[in-house]
Amino acid sequence: MPNEIRDITIVGGGPTGLFAAFYAGMRGSSCRIIDSLPELGGQLTALYPEKYIFDVGGYAKVLAKDLVKNQVEQALQFHPDVILDEQVQEVVRKDDHFEMRCVHGTYLTRSIVISGGKGAFEPMPLKCPGYEEFMHKGVEYAVKDPEAFRHKNVVVVGGGDTALDFVLMLKGVARTMALVHRRDGWRAHAASVHQLERAAAVGEVDLRTFHEVREIHGADRVETVTIFDNRTDEDVSLDCDCVLSCLGFKPDLGAIKAWGLEVEKNRIKVDQLMATNIPGVFAAGDVVDYLGKLDLIATGYAEAAIAVNNAVHYVDPSARVNPGHSTNMKVFKE
Ligand SMILES: Cc1cc2nc3c(=O)[nH]c(=O)nc-3n(C[C@H](O)[C@H](O)[C@H](O)COP(=O)(O)OP(=O)(O)OC[C@H]3O[C@@H](n4cnc5c(N)ncnc54)[C@H](O)[C@@H]3O)c2cc1C
Repeated sequence: MPNEIRDITIVGGGPTGLFAAFYAGMRGSSCRIIDSLPELGGQLTALYPEKYIFDVGGYAKVLAKDLVKNQVEQALQFHPDVILDEQVQEVVRKDDHFEMRCVHGTYLTRSIVISGGKGAFEPMPLKCPGYEEFMHKGVEYAVKDPEAFRHKNVVVVGGGDTALDFVLMLKGVARTMALVHRRDGWRAHAASVHQLERAAAVGEVDLRTFHEVREIHGADRVETVTIFDNRTDEDVSLDCDCVLSCLGFKPDLGAIKAWGLEVEKNRIKVDQLMATNIPGVFAAGDVVDYLGKLDLIATGYAEAAIAVNNAVHYVDPSARVNPGHSTNMKVFKE
């Protein structure tokens, strides 16, 4: 019901937004989640569904996709509206509510919680011929299902955590695994670098430091890739079915930047209440900035709880900010 006014609209259905939706439901607020992706789960669904997460409370380890599944179940018990494949473009304040103008429709809401992460996903492109042409025909930037790489010749490009994580995850699945990186320093956890060096030493990974991709070739799909040594300009051709480009994501909040929010380096400034400079607009998760901010799922949960409880109080000043303990709440006994 696009035009039915909701108490809280959550922009972004990643782990933070899903927890915010749960919290809104628990507080008895009507709620809607809007996400530009076709599925809920944010980075966990889009980038690393098959990776284990070890630092979320309550789980010794949990697959990212399973955490999303459980969070979706937790959030949907209160029946929020879920609007997918929809990007919020413009927000206009009316008397006692906001009008959220999206690509496909307009939604009304009394308050907003922005949990848009790093913004709509825009991978940093590999600047070489063949990258655009073979996108999703052998060129990928995320691993949705490791089985899609089984028995393939895979070339990973990058030197950060994501590149190393994908190399270590796929090295036993792919037929061959090469890692191409333009220097010999890594922006990754020491433990991953150590594992990579061990894998390279026993021949599980063809490590190509000081190399860059010159061109990706193929007919309908990727078949080979030419890389070059950036010290000598010498070319090497690698058999390749899949180029996994892990150069990071362009942090771009897109249209959100034009809403009049205080934004610095693509992050929204918030106070201790997770309130932005616009009354009624709160923010949480990777999208926010404050002294001591950590980009973790666990911190996103805490920020979501603070943002939603304050949004509840904003919408109805007679409602307490402090929710009390869920163990005693009537809503779970019904
Ligand atoms: C490879 C990898 C491994 C990681 N491992 C861990 C780990 O082990 N532990 C940990 O705590 N963290 C980990 N992280 C970080 C963690 O994934 C993030 O901190 C978390 O996803 C942030 O959640 P979020 O909901 O704030 O944002 P996101 O997950 O980024 O979700 C934001 C959502 O907002 C949507 N959106 C953005 N702009 C708009 C718009 N205008 N309109 C509509 N929708 C919009 C996006 O489509 C997206 O779905 C990892 C990250 C990566 C990349």
